[in-house]
Amino acid sequence: MPRIAYVNGRYVQHADACVHIEDRGYQFADGVYEVCEVARGYIVDAKRHLDRLARSLSELQMAWPMHRSTLEIVMAELVRRNGVKNGLVYLQVTRGVASRDFLFPADTKPSLVITAKKIAPAINAKKAESGIKVITVPENRWDRVDIKTVGLLPNVLAKEKAKAAGAQEAWFVDEAGNVKEGGSSNAWIVTKDGVLVTRPAEHGILRGITRTTLFEVASELGLKIEERGFSVAEAKAAREAFISSATTIAMPVVAIDGAPVANGHPGSVVLSLREAFFDIAEKRLA
Ligand code: PLP
Repeated sequence: MPRIAYVNGRYVQHADACVHIEDRGYQFADGVYEVCEVARGYIVDAKRHLDRLARSLSELQMAWPMHRSTLEIVMAELVRRNGVKNGLVYLQVTRGVASRDFLFPADTKPSLVITAKKIAPAINAKKAESGIKVITVPENRWDRVDIKTVGLLPNVLAKEKAKAAGAQEAWFVDEAGNVKEGGSSNAWIVTKDGVLVTRPAEHGILRGITRTTLFEVASELGLKIEERGFSVAEAKAAREAFISSATTIAMPVVAIDGAPVANGHPGSVVLSLREAFFDIAEKRLA
């Protein structure tokens, strides 16, 4: 089945899909995006993703590319046309095409690109069995990382550094030595008492949709969550550590900066969250 993308009103062959050279996303990273997990044929947490998109657009004074309800239909249609049962949908909105100028262009229509991709569930399941390694890097991003913009160069460089160190994610650390979040994920630990800890999302991190849904999953499993900062030292000494994102759900972290977390194997709490996640997300959908 050939892959199909949606570009500014048209379903086109993925291989032929393109945008204009003066798209502001391309020239200024003047755009926002969402990545949604597709599981068992439905878009997980679609409403929450579109709520966050609404916030990102509003923070950047950018217009919706189409009516929200139409966008939902297009996303579902793209998933259908690509035959995706498990995988992801990526959607990106930019301020549109205009002659290069820093100022917002007047009367320019936002650009919309949506792609969908199949991912075999076994790939992530296998990763979760062994867990991932993270490194820590000093925070060097702008102050508005709560907006999901396509300006991700520091994240690219941090993740590249992680790869060079044999790790799969980089955790940004603030000046006080506290973990902020990963290059494309939120960061969590489990204390010796079995309490989940994650940094508050009011400022300085992206409020992950998976993070929000994990609060519900934890509550259904009778687990306590503390929203507070934690240091790299506390994470290294924790009972468990993990990351969350739409593409990884809850993924065990087994080493931080080369030091094993606990016994260096995925912990039971994160694995139970992972296992319960889709059932609980689906139940809410129903
Ligand atoms: N933090 C950052 C910087 C991210 O890029 C992402 C996802 O891409 C997340 C957190 C997790 O967000 P979500 O759970 O909505 O995927």
